[in-house]
Amino acid sequence: MEVNLEELTFEEQEQLKRNVFLTTLEEIKAWARSSSLWPLQFGLACCAIEMMGTGGSHYDFDRFGVIFRASPRQADVMIVAGTVTKKMGPILRRLYDQMPEPKWVVAMGSCATAGGPYVKSYSVIKGVDQIVPVDVYIPGCPPNPAALIYGINKLQEKIRYEAKTGKRVTGS
Ligand code: SF4
Repeated sequence: MEVNLEELTFEEQEQLKRNVFLTTLEEIKAWARSSSLWPLQFGLACCAIEMMGTGGSHYDFDRFGVIFRASPRQADVMIVAGTVTKKMGPILRRLYDQMPEPKWVVAMGSCATAGGPYVKSYSVIKGVDQIVPVDVYIPGCPPNPAALIYGINKLQEKIRYEAKTGKRVTGS
């Protein structure tokens, strides 16, 4: 049924705006995905303590639909929380490869972002983006739970934006 908006009263137009919205299937899927992000449960160093704190009752990560999973097969987000050593790099990549598409990566803290305080160490990878594609970088040593929540909110926005525009956004 076609509705001519000009024939409606102001109140009817307002009612229509409040009760009807148009979208696409891709946008609904992105909204659902972004509202139920399941990160892989693993931490690499001190940043992981802040990540665990974010999952506790005080910060309550669950309220954003974020629920940690113990298996890469059930996860769609990898939060790299800590120092990535050269020995750990190939294992991290293997876990990433085992995650089903679509999937996203968050580099939490200065170690995961660029090597952090260990940037001169022979054994540390200077940024996890050398192994896996990173969607969101969170600075700090360590970033606190509020920063991690902000980073996840940014990832949610990014997932919805990509579905809306069809454009792939690189790490932010
Ligand atoms: S960024 Fe700082 S707090 Fe995080 S893992 Fe590295 S040294 Fe630890």
